[in-house]
Amino acid sequence: MARYTGPSCRLCRQEGEKLFLKGERCYTDKCAIERRSYGPGEQGRGRRRKLSEFGLQLREKQKVRRIYGVMEKQFRLYFEKAERKPGITGENFLNLLESRLDNVVYRLGFATSRNEARQFVRHGHILVNGSRVDIPSYLVSEGDIISIKDSSTSMKRFKEVLEINENYNTPSWLESNFEKKEGKVLTDPNREDIDIQINEQLIVEFYSK
Ligand code: SF4
Repeated sequence: MARYTGPSCRLCRQEGEKLFLKGERCYTDKCAIERRSYGPGEQGRGRRRKLSEFGLQLREKQKVRRIYGVMEKQFRLYFEKAERKPGITGENFLNLLESRLDNVVYRLGFATSRNEARQFVRHGHILVNGSRVDIPSYLVSEGDIISIKDSSTSMKRFKEVLEINENYNTPSWLESNFEKKEGKVLTDPNREDIDIQINEQLIVEFYSK
């Protein structure tokens, strides 16, 4: 399935909640969900149908896939990997998504959205332990140092982002140093640090059929 390249706000309106796909705009009253919370298109204004159990599982899966910007095939591979790991499959699954380099760049406060973080990684602005890594799905490990490439730190957009995120609260499993333009992975991601409403059990049920 091809990557969705249409308007991000449409995805939030389909899910009926904010997925925070557009950086600083998501926190203003320009947010499409703040302005009109009904779904997109002709049918959008009608009452939402009550979803079946399968419908709820499917919607939750789609919502999380959209939040992290992952395509279906790779999303399923994360699930299969999570199942093979010891522990709770749902939590393992979210931990894998959180460990993606694009998500970590966003969580460190070096980008205002995962989409922007993905662009920074793809364009070669991000280093892991001093080496350029331009693969957004790269999984970080405990102790890894993530930094903005020296020659990229003078970019206008990085300066803007660091200013916007001046009072940013880094999740407890990461440590960011805006002065040095680098961050560290202190430990594995914690479930309680995921500040979006996700019911991962629904996704486990979806894939376990
Ligand atoms: Fe979603 Fe952000 Fe658009 Fe609001 S502004 S609808 S949160 S992408």
